[in-house]
Parts: sequence; C-alpha cells; structure tokens
Amino acid sequence: MNRSTILIVEDESNIRRFIRIALEKEGLAAVEAESGALARVETATRKPDLIIVDLGLPDEDGKDLIREVRTWVSSPILVLSAREREEEKVEALDAGADDYLVKPFGVPELVARIRALLRRSQALSTVTGSSSRASFGDTVVDLVNREVTRAGQPVHLTPIQFRLLAALIRGHGKVLTHRQLLLEIWGAAYSDRAHYLRVYMMQLRQKLEDDASQPRYLITELQVGYRLAGVTME
Ligand code: CA
Repeated sequence: MNRSTILIVEDESNIRRFIRIALEKEGLAAVEAESGALARVETATRKPDLIIVDLGLPDEDGKDLIREVRTWVSSPILVLSAREREEEKVEALDAGADDYLVKPFGVPELVARIRALLRRSQALSTVTGSSSRASFGDTVVDLVNREVTRAGQPVHLTPIQFRLLAALIRGHGKVLTHRQLLLEIWGAAYSDRAHYLRVYMMQLRQKLEDDASQPRYLITELQVGYRLAGVTME
C-alpha cells in the first residue's frame, strides 16, 4: 500500500516537528518546508497527497501560496490559522483551501482532519465527475433528474433549495464559504448576502434533517460557511 505523503508548510520548527511526529505515528510520510518558496519546490518535486499550510509564512502570505498552488495542484490543502486572525481562514478557503484548523490544536483533531481530507480526495479520484446520485442519512439526491427522496418518499425542493443542496453535494464534505455558495447560487452581485443562505439552509434542514435545530448533515461552520457531512456519491 502506498503511504500518503503530507507536505508541512510552516516556519516554526517546533510546530513542524510536532506535526511530523503525529503524522509518522499514523503511518503517513511527512515532508517539511519552512517558506513559501520551498513549499513550491517540494510540491512540484514530491507531489504530496495533502498540503498543510500555515498562513503566517516568512516570505509570503499563505493565502497567496494557496491561490497559486491551487492552479496546478488538486491535492487537499489544510490551513493552520492563528485564533486572532479569524477572517483569514475564510479568505484561505476562498483562495482554494479545503479545511482549516485553528492554533493551538491537538493531535487527534489534526489526524481526524487529515484522514477525512485524504479519504475524500481518494473517493473523488475513483468516482468520476459523472456521478449522478448522492446520499446522506436517509436522503437520496438524483442530481440529473433533480429528484430528492427521504426514506423513499419524494421531497419537494424549490429551485434555489435544490441548487444550494447540489452545491453542498459537489463540495463533497468540504467547507464552502458564504462567498463561494452565494457566487454559485445567485452570482457576484449577491456575494455579501450571507443572510440569504441562513434562510435557505434553515428550509433545507426542515425538509432533510430529523431535528432542524440539531443538524447532523447540513452543518454550519460559524462565521465561515456550510458543509454537508456524511455524504456518499453513487
Ligand atoms: Ca508562522
């Protein structure tokens, strides 16, 4: 079995070491880069299966690194951000990162995020883009015929509700920022109207969750966006 290789882009050597030890204990291979410039070299030569990027790098902003690397690399990118720079994680996700962890974080959390990202990217590379059905809980969504059922019973969604659900399905468990969802569903003129999303997410939860106030699938990422948990493509 191939060992997944993780590139750690972080200028603080003690954090790099902490992450490397955690990854190696999990049977993952770790490569380190202490700057954005080295990160580009390691990304091109080692072709990592996942990249961890600290946003505060000595030679450039981690967000710029992500934006550029994203144009030629499809591996998942996990961002490390400092708690006091809350808005930065949203910008990093908009730049093309897949998930984020706020410092300080523990090993179990780090490993769980990495495992989830690796699973998803492996699933995405085996399931082709033509996958037309998705399911989560007792909900099944037919993306081609735009039909939704819950426990076998048809569920009626409005066109906007369906587009929001389809966007979350295509995100495949990834956090989608308010901006990304608004752009996709309503277009650029609406990219600041996060309250639209709140309304439609609540409607979707009322139709697709057992308890709309305690969602298990249509998950809110506070001040960031939304994600669909537990989704499988068929
Ligand atoms: Ca740093």
